[in-house]
Parts: sequence; C-alpha cells; structure tokens
Amino acid sequence: MSNPPNLYDVVVAGGGPGGIGAAIAAARAGSRVALIERWPVLGGMGTVALVNNFCPAHFDGKRFIIGGIMGELRQRLIARKAIYTYKPLATTNPIIEPYNPDVFIEEVTAMCREAGVDVMLNTTITHVTFERARPATLMIDGGLTVLARTVVDATGDAVIAHNAGVPSTFGTAGTHNVMPLTFCYMLGPIDLGAAQAGLPESVRYDEGTGETFYYFSGWHPVVDEWVKQAREDGSLSIPRDHISAILSVPGKPTYATVNFGRVTIADPTDPVQLAMAEDEGRRQIAEGIRFFRKYIPGLANVELVQMARQIGVRETRQIIGLYTLTADDVLSGRQFDDVVAQCCYPIDIHEPGKITTIMKRLPRGAHYDIPWRCMIPRSGPDNLIVAGRSISATSEAMSSFRVSPSVMAIGEAAGITAARAVECHCAIHDVNPADVQQRLLNAGAVLT
Ligand SMILES: Cc1cc2nc3c(=O)[nH]c(=O)nc-3n(C[C@H](O)[C@H](O)[C@H](O)COP(=O)(O)OP(=O)(O)OC[C@H]3O[C@@H](n4cnc5c(N)ncnc54)[C@H](O)[C@@H]3O)c2cc1C
Repeated sequence: MSNPPNLYDVVVAGGGPGGIGAAIAAARAGSRVALIERWPVLGGMGTVALVNNFCPAHFDGKRFIIGGIMGELRQRLIARKAIYTYKPLATTNPIIEPYNPDVFIEEVTAMCREAGVDVMLNTTITHVTFERARPATLMIDGGLTVLARTVVDATGDAVIAHNAGVPSTFGTAGTHNVMPLTFCYMLGPIDLGAAQAGLPESVRYDEGTGETFYYFSGWHPVVDEWVKQAREDGSLSIPRDHISAILSVPGKPTYATVNFGRVTIADPTDPVQLAMAEDEGRRQIAEGIRFFRKYIPGLANVELVQMARQIGVRETRQIIGLYTLTADDVLSGRQFDDVVAQCCYPIDIHEPGKITTIMKRLPRGAHYDIPWRCMIPRSGPDNLIVAGRSISATSEAMSSFRVSPSVMAIGEAAGITAARAVECHCAIHDVNPADVQQRLLNAGAVLT
C-alpha cells in the first residue's frame, strides 16, 4: 500500500535558523521532509525580527569552527554580495557579519527546495498528537493534518516538546526571569560622510561587496556617554546603557538595521504579554530614532524605513535533555565525545529588568562543544528531537549558543539524527551519535 501524501519521514516545526538547518540536512539524508513555518518567510528571528547578522559563533579569531549548511549559506551570500564578511587574518576581533535579509530568505528557501524539502509557509502548527510506534499527527491551521515519522521541534520556544510533556525549564534558574525582548527596525538614509567625520570607526569598507558601510556595535566610551546623558535628561527611557547594533544592510549601505530597545516581560509565550511587549517595542523605536537624530553623527536625517515583522524573543523554555549544557562547559571550552556542533560566541546575557549586559568571552582561538545529548528529551515521545535555541542548557549557556550560526549547526545535527532514526526504524535516542558525527563530517561540518 502506498503512503498517504501527507505522511513525511521528518516534519520540522519552525523555519528559523535551527529549522532550516534541520530540514535541509534531513532531506539531503534521504528523508521526505516538510518544513512548517507560521510566517510567510523563512529565517526566524534572523529575518522576521530583523536580526540580520551572524554573530561570531563560527569564527574563533583564528579559524572557522562551523561549516556544513551554515558555511554553504555564508558562501552563497558572499556570491550574491549580500554579506559583509570577516577578514580572518587581518583582525584579532571578529566582527558581526551583517547580511541582507531579503537575499537570505531567497537563498535559504532555494537551499530547502534544492534539497527537496516541502516548504509550508503561513502555516501554524496548532496541536501535535504522539502515539507509540505510530507517526505523529500535526494539526495545522485550516484544519489540515500532517503525519510525521519523526518531528524536529525548532519552534524556538519548544512548543511541540512542551505540549508533548517533555520537561523543561524557563529562564534563569530560581527566578525564571527571561532576557528582555527587542523590536528591531531598519532606518536610513545614513550620511556616511558625516558619520565618518564624527565617528570615524563607524564607517568601514567591505572588499567583497565593494561597499562603504555603517557599522556600530557594542560599547563605545563616547556613544555610551551620549546614551547616559539622554537617559539623565529624560529624553531616552529605553532601559539600556549602550547601543547593541546599527549595521548597514549589504546592497543598500545607507540603510541600517538597529538593535537598541529592551522590553522585559515575564513570559514571551503568553500572547497577551507579547502584544504588550510589541506596543512598548514600537514606542521605543520612535524614541530611539529621536535619540539617533540628535546625537549620532550621520544619522541626523534618518527615517524609519521598516519595522521587523515581530518583536525579537531571546529566551523562553529549554527542554531537559540527556545532558544540560552549563556556563562552566562554555567558559572552560569543554569538549564532548558526542559533539555535533561548536561555538565560540561569548556568554551574552541581556539582564532582565536592568540596563546592563553581562559578557563573558572565551579566549581567542577557543571554542566549546555542543553535545548530541542536549537535543534529546530526557523523557517524552520517542520520535521527537529538539533543535535551535531551546535545547537542553542553562540560561547562561543558552545566552552563548543562541546566535544563528551555532543554532543552524545544531539544527543540521538534529535533522541528520531524525533522518537516521527513520532509516534504522529506531527511537531518536537509539540513534548512534557517532553515525551522526560521520554524516556531519561528510557534509563539511567542523567538529574539532
Ligand atoms: C533581539 C534579538 C537579537 C539577536 N541578535 C542576534 C545577532 O545579532 N546575531 C545572531 O546571530 N543572533 C542573534 N540573535 C539570536 C538568534 O536570532 C536566535 O536565537 C535564533 O534565530 C534562534 O533560532 P531558532 O531557529 O532556534 O528559533 P527562531 O529563530 O525563533 O525560529 C523559530 C521559528 O519557529 C516558528 N514557529 C514557532 N511556533 C510555530 C508553530 N506553532 N507553527 C509554525 N511555526 C512556528 C517561528 O515563527 C519562527 O520562525 C538575536 C535574537 C534576538 C531575539
């Protein structure tokens, strides 16, 4: 008897960096794959929340420590002149790599289609039923159902796992506080000449694209003083002591996306609280632009060009898996036998309810491993694996690997694991991580 058309080997829930990596990897491993995303575009926070850059999780100051699908995507963006890249040998301080979000959407969608993934957009998974030894049934809005031999939960919030009874933690141990949210946006036009005259380090040149562009990120003694001054005179109420990022968009360098706001709520998975956070985020956008016009060289005449489709959510649930990654693992550069991804991005905690940020860096040239066991729920359905930022980790460890390069690498490992479980007719937790590692290496991943 032939399989019903709505039966998939692997269904990936959520089309952020984690889900994209998982879907492409599972399809390349031979599985029939559906990738289900509630927004009309892929990319997750990287596109719908306008966080359009790769934080340096993939370059440790000496070499690239993430390859595979993330490496391929980066090369495709380079070929499209849609990313400002590191100059690995020329710098000891890796910078953030801003990419063009529209080209990113085109490229990841093309990569999914080339791999044979059925991409379902504008589609929200409303409920999933898991039954022992049978495919899971995913209800999607509109009343349709999709059947899945294995499910990859890449929703960022571990929605599927939570509903299936997988135990999870929420926010910081003890307080359950989560990191604040940020509503990102695009502004322009920036006067690059005026910017260079007033803050020379904010203007750079990228050889790959041939573009002169605006780059401001992180702490800066002069700019931080302006932020302090505006907070003291009452014109700036955004609870943040520095500007996180104003980064030109490759292809339109006088336009930049901004990460500056900060909204603290108790639970971003609560739609009422989330809507209130979006209101406050929008208010902060208007306030941020007024501040930039007054204080920041080159930004005197900028207008709001585009708001993100949604406010950016940094943290909600972490599943409890077979291993829980800790801050000590991150900062000691711990290696694991079942490594499936690597990361070198610092611990980066936007402190809930405060204006400050905790940054704890690894030494240059160091990285830590993300073990396979962090993706495997300690209990729950046999055919469920979690990818992306909601894998098993403490809040502190998650604040490091949550950035998109490492999340995509985790997703790739989850997709290969899900495909392997289908291939060997076994439970997810019975897949041999050594097989996953071998397949990752064959696909160009870096695991040492
Ligand atoms: C404000 C902010 C700034 C950041 N800055 C950076 C940065 O500068 N650089 C960097 O590299 N990283 C940054 N990050 C981190 C990074 O963007 C995220 O951690 C990363 O996108 C997480 O990937 P993910 O795939 O796990 O989840 P997400 O990106 O959240 O993707 C999850 C996807 O699942 C979908 N989904 C959820 N539920 C359902 C459902 N029921 N049905 C269908 N679809 C569903 C969502 O719509 C979403 O697209 C930032 C994050 C935020 C919020």
